[in-house]
Amino acid sequence: MRVLSGIQPSGSLHLGNYFGMMKRMVEYQENNELFCFLVNYHALTSVFDAELLRRQTFEAACDFLALGLDPEKSVFWVQSDVQEVTELTWLLSNVTGMGLLERSHSYKDKTAKGIPASHGLFAYPVLMAADILLYGAEKVPVGKDQKQHLEIARDIAIRFNNTYGETFVVPEPDIEESVATVPGIDGQKMSKSYGNAIEIFAGEKEMREKVMKIKTDSTPVDQPKPVEGNVLYELYSLFLDEKEREKLKERFLTPGLKYGEVKKELFGVIWEYFAPYRKERERLVKDRQYVVDTLREGARKARQVAAVYLERARRNVGLDYWN
Ligand code: ATP
Ligand code: MG
Repeated sequence: MRVLSGIQPSGSLHLGNYFGMMKRMVEYQENNELFCFLVNYHALTSVFDAELLRRQTFEAACDFLALGLDPEKSVFWVQSDVQEVTELTWLLSNVTGMGLLERSHSYKDKTAKGIPASHGLFAYPVLMAADILLYGAEKVPVGKDQKQHLEIARDIAIRFNNTYGETFVVPEPDIEESVATVPGIDGQKMSKSYGNAIEIFAGEKEMREKVMKIKTDSTPVDQPKPVEGNVLYELYSLFLDEKEREKLKERFLTPGLKYGEVKKELFGVIWEYFAPYRKERERLVKDRQYVVDTLREGARKARQVAAVYLERARRNVGLDYWN
């Protein structure tokens, strides 16, 4: 099965990215044809500082490699190294109804958060559809926030195939319910651009501070604590198996639990969980050339697949005037 997903270098990668997408991608690479990329064209919708974008792109690559993405087993590259995707975006734009984009929740959420209401942000789902269709992806592991974008990509693929004849694979979203929406420390969806994220590779002090800031309710210590909608409980649960989660639930339901103590404990759990990856990441950050070469080689492989789909699309819409 061809599995594909991308992540924006729009900030430091966080627990939501990890559980919603990255961890699952790394698992998928064992038995599938994995395509994984850093979508820096998409990040241009919210990052307007060139140096920052460069740095975040490199760091996101280090993060992914440190977390176990194996460039021998998968295709790993930076979106803008395969420029064909921008041409496909244009071809797809003409079968994308305005209404489809006008209904986009993500556009509304992001503009409400102060991200400029540009044409790029509005057309974000079309570029995303191009990303998926250009590589013939069958399955796309994402968090729940991307569900609607995946539906848009499917609609576009179907519309294109109906208009011009069979051209693209219609992709399926792959959303894991238990990690579908990881909450940020303020209780909203954890997002790079919302300032509410616990970053996977934050420094010790910074990560501790973030964890201590997790929003909690004001239930008195001697009362049972709610678990439903409790951000602290939800974040802690990410690191537990089913049995351990039951135990944690019991602790929350038993009067006497102090949120502050649970936060300290959770910090320790997160810090330990990523310890081995942190070491590997430090090594990668220093080996810039290796990381860059790996991404370039990934782009070379990705382009071979992209060329086939783009050529087919160009022909099917009639850009081959010489025939
Ligand atoms: P931005 O705020 O710039 O949109 P983001 O944090 O939402 O950044 P993206 O690069 O947009 O991250 O998304 C990368 C992947 O991570 C997507 O598959 C997305 O669904 C997933 N993801 C992002 N946030 C969460 C979350 N809070 N819970 C689960 N999955 C998430
Ligand atoms: Mg996002």
